[in-house]
Amino acid sequence: MDIDTLCPCCRRLDEDGDHLFLKCKFAKACWRAAILEEQRLKLVACSSAHEVMDCIFQFGDQMAMQAIQFARDAGKSRVIFETDATNLKDALCSNAYDLSQHGTIFRKAKYMLFTSFIEYKVISRVRECNSVAHKLAGQGASMEPGAHMLWHGTIPDFVLSDVASEYAVLGG
Ligand SMILES: [Zn+2]
Repeated sequence: MDIDTLCPCCRRLDEDGDHLFLKCKFAKACWRAAILEEQRLKLVACSSAHEVMDCIFQFGDQMAMQAIQFARDAGKSRVIFETDATNLKDALCSNAYDLSQHGTIFRKAKYMLFTSFIEYKVISRVRECNSVAHKLAGQGASMEPGAHMLWHGTIPDFVLSDVASEYAVLGG
């Protein structure tokens, strides 16, 4: 039986998980658009599926640390961190993951949360309700690599209206 093994996107190389998600020129363009080229290269360098999964979990942990550092460096004292990863929320709100492989980073993150803010909350939200995060991510993807945007006082309308509609959906 003849099976077409060429990548349906580029029609140049055989499709396998590595090619489709990390190496195809269309996949690469997506990683670049999301400003995740550095992470893509780390995944390309992985030698097993186990290593890839471990790498992905580390990205989440590192982003959580960056968000905490960013809020602290911006002088925020009362913060709410929102994530769609329930295990990340559990890791930051309990000792459940302290002895796990990434326990060191969770303990460091909790120490930073405790010492950097007067008040903080970590809440988890399911992805399909996370339209604010998606719009913010889209906004971020349209910016130059390394650039950042911080709103003091006046929050853009698209954020306010989305937060309001999510709040209404959740019965808040
Ligand atoms: Zn391809």
